Amino acid sequence: MKSRKFIPLIVYVVVLAMIFLWANELFSSNLTQMPYSQVVELFRQEKVKRFVVEDQTITMELRGEDGQSVEVTTAMADPEIFRMELEELFAQQYASGVLESYHFVPEEGFSPYALIMPLLVVGLILLFAWAMFMSRSSNSNPLNNFGKARTVLGVPDGKTVTFADVAGADEEKEELQEVVDFLKNPAKYTEIGARIPHGLLLVGPPGTGKTLLARAAAGEAGVQFLSISGSDFVEMYVGVGASRVRDLFDQAKKIAPAVIFIDEIDAVGRKRGSGLGGGHDEKEQTLNQLLVEMDGFTRTEGIIVLAATNRPDILDPALLRPGRFDRQIQVGRPDVKGREEILKVHAKGKKLDGGVDLAVVARATSGFTGADLSNLLNEAAILAARENRPVLTMEDLNEALMKITAGPAKKSRVQTRKDLKVTAIHEAGHAVAIYHLPTHDPVRHITIIPRGQSLGATWYLPKDDSSNLTRNQMYEQIVSLLGGRVAEALFLGDISVGASNDIDRATKLARDMVARYGMCEKLGTVSYLDGGEVFIGRDYQTTKSYSEKVAGTIDDEVKALIDRAYDHCRKILTQNEEKLRALVDMLLEKESLTGKQFADLMEGRALGETSATDMFDEFARPQESSQDSESL
Ligand code: ADP
Ligand code: MG
Ligand code: ZN
Repeated sequence: MKSRKFIPLIVYVVVLAMIFLWANELFSSNLTQMPYSQVVELFRQEKVKRFVVEDQTITMELRGEDGQSVEVTTAMADPEIFRMELEELFAQQYASGVLESYHFVPEEGFSPYALIMPLLVVGLILLFAWAMFMSRSSNSNPLNNFGKARTVLGVPDGKTVTFADVAGADEEKEELQEVVDFLKNPAKYTEIGARIPHGLLLVGPPGTGKTLLARAAAGEAGVQFLSISGSDFVEMYVGVGASRVRDLFDQAKKIAPAVIFIDEIDAVGRKRGSGLGGGHDEKEQTLNQLLVEMDGFTRTEGIIVLAATNRPDILDPALLRPGRFDRQIQVGRPDVKGREEILKVHAKGKKLDGGVDLAVVARATSGFTGADLSNLLNEAAILAARENRPVLTMEDLNEALMKITAGPAKKSRVQTRKDLKVTAIHEAGHAVAIYHLPTHDPVRHITIIPRGQSLGATWYLPKDDSSNLTRNQMYEQIVSLLGGRVAEALFLGDISVGASNDIDRATKLARDMVARYGMCEKLGTVSYLDGGEVFIGRDYQTTKSYSEKVAGTIDDEVKALIDRAYDHCRKILTQNEEKLRALVDMLLEKESLTGKQFADLMEGRALGETSATDMFDEFARPQESSQDSESL
């Protein structure tokens, strides 16, 4: 193995040496530059004792003044002419003994050495460059590692993960318990003839703990964990992916019982014969090989294949057939209780202030995955460490949460009084509209301190975790989203680009109502957009399964819905102009208001003071942020 490393070096040295020799040959022979006429003159004066002509050089031994001989070598443009011109003279002088010997080295045409050398050098350089490129692109010698599965044996950090490390995913763990039991004691199942699935598919959004669960299942059973990512199978070279699959299963059989974990299986398991650019031979071969291997091992071998994906809908049906990945485990975003447990797991290694209440944090982080929560605690710890505080406080968590959802606060950004007023009017428009919408979740926090992309924000807290929205709730969300723009139009006499994100989200929501959820009379209860999992940036690129006429109606209905919401919002804000203006003044004075303070203001009471923990409790997802709007 070691000597392989030196191959590029050796090639390099050889190439350099050859270039050097070649250059030496051409340029550095110690030629004297002597004019042709002078050479001829030497002969006529009978000065030449001996000479040799080779290629385009002549080497002469001359009679010096004092009888000593001198050797002179000089270049000659055309030795042939020289020969013809002086042939007789040579013969005479030779006969008379003046010229002791002479020799024309027979010409071998143009020197083949000089002809081949440049080609050879270029070829070697190319070969060398290719070797460099290959070794870089596959991180090791390509000829050595083709087709070897890049699996990680065991747990990367050497620490065994068990179900105790996975918080809140009780149903998922229960489903996996069966697999664990089988791996621990396969005989029990095979004797009775029970069929344990070969493969299980873990389905869920990124960060929900699919990889963690797979590792925990192996850890719990005390078996080896072989993990590979689907993208590792995808290579430029046809056949490599397939041989990697073969290699993976061979490895597993050697160390069985084992869990094989294929992360991001959609990278190889895409429906065959679909996708842009037609079929992809390499991927199909890889997938075929995977299918063959899944069928190939017997139950007694004690191997279970777990795979993870967030796009089960694009997997090839053959993968999901009985005997392959015939069982799916949905790994969802955790609920309030799950979030609290996950927070507890990740808070273990961190020093928390006595005032930190993780239940409150869990309540404010609806929609967060395990990875998000872990990240939240880490961000808070970084904030505390940066200010040299020994423990992590509720304020740190509050700031971390705001930072994650809306970007870091930009306290240093200089805003003119006029900018602040525009922002205050915009946010007040959202807040006042929300306050007057009966089914809308209440305002929890308003600020005109810029954060990330937004200049200000109005946050509201969903009353519960439910993701089931009614038509009324969706409509009212559109109304409140338009609040910022309507307030600008009404009280500023001009409109700004600050509302573009609001408008995007309102439009998307309206489109979903009309074309996805069948909430519009004219189009009926028909879904024109593909339902199922919503993926940002991809959901509207689906192929159209409706006519141009319907497309026109959808557009008309979306516009009508937005127009209606806009009028509704304008009515609310004009009727409550006094309140809105009072709120704008208060925002300019205090910069941030809690939900309680906002409610006090709306009801004409004096404003109470608030603490940081209070602010945190009031915290929720931002109205302004460009977050996943799926839950709207
Ligand atoms: P996925 O594979 O679904 O994208 P991971 O398993 O890689 O997600 O999870 C990323 C990280 O999030 C984990 O390393 C872990 O720290 C954290 N995490 C996710 N879910 C949980 C959970 N249920 N309990 C504890 N930690 C979790
Ligand atoms: Mg993962
Ligand atoms: Zn807005």
